[in-house]
Amino acid sequence: MSENTGNQGRVAVITGASSGIGAATARALAADGYRVALLARRADRIDALAAEIGGGAIAIPADVTDRDALVAAAARVREELGGADVLVNNAGVMLLGPFSSDRRDDYRAMVEVNLLGAITTTEVFLDQLKDGGGDLINISSVAGRTARASNGVYAATKWGVNGWSESLRQELLPDVRVTLIEPGVVDTDLPSHITDEATRAAVQKGYDVATVQPEEIAEVVAFVLARPRHLAINEILLRPADQLG
Ligand code: NDP
Repeated sequence: MSENTGNQGRVAVITGASSGIGAATARALAADGYRVALLARRADRIDALAAEIGGGAIAIPADVTDRDALVAAAARVREELGGADVLVNNAGVMLLGPFSSDRRDDYRAMVEVNLLGAITTTEVFLDQLKDGGGDLINISSVAGRTARASNGVYAATKWGVNGWSESLRQELLPDVRVTLIEPGVVDTDLPSHITDEATRAAVQKGYDVATVQPEEIAEVVAFVLARPRHLAINEILLRPADQLG
């Protein structure tokens, strides 16, 4: 964890906090003195994590495709924690498979969660982030910098996040620092939701031997946030040392 002690009382909102990178980020930021608001659909998971973290952590069941739920979440963060200083747009789904009309529900879900979900969450929390100097962390992917067969729509969502992040960075500086994090393969449940069986089996093989842990991504997020306000780390691409593309 970072050595920064200036975070006491700062508030971090993390979407997709029920597992993987989001849960690890919540733990890391709480260890750094943040009060955290945990958003995800699986209420049992975020309730348990909030209880484990303690220190004013709150769990807010919310689907990032539901703007009303996000507005209600923002109101709770304002009332119970005094407003968000940090938003980590982490919620995501990776429903890979060959491009065909059989997958159209998956395409819509990826766009609605990975891209529109991040955009809507930011739009709803932006006044809180601007109020006193905030940080926006967008969890993109190596797939935001490359593309390969069978990941086209997932890559489109992450390329979309990258372009949108750079535009926001310019609009919001210096009050809100914007950081894009682009991980390679990280050992999480992400591939388990792939609906195309052959693709899921093939992708899962890579994840079964994944070396990078979600806690290592969380450490990077904590490091970025711990930099003094005059320094903005805008983009970090990080992969397992043996990952080619
Ligand atoms: P997980 O599957 O462990 O986590 C995904 C999280 O997103 C869960 O907490 C899930 O919570 C949440 N989520 C999914 N849909 C919604 C929704 N509609 N509303 C709210 N929350 C939602 O995978 P990771 O931790 O790996 O994924 C986190 C992010 O990291 C994603 O954006 C992913 O694209 C990105 N990433 C991951 C990589 C990897 O190799 N693992 C590599 C590069 C990027 P719930 O189901 O409870 O709602």
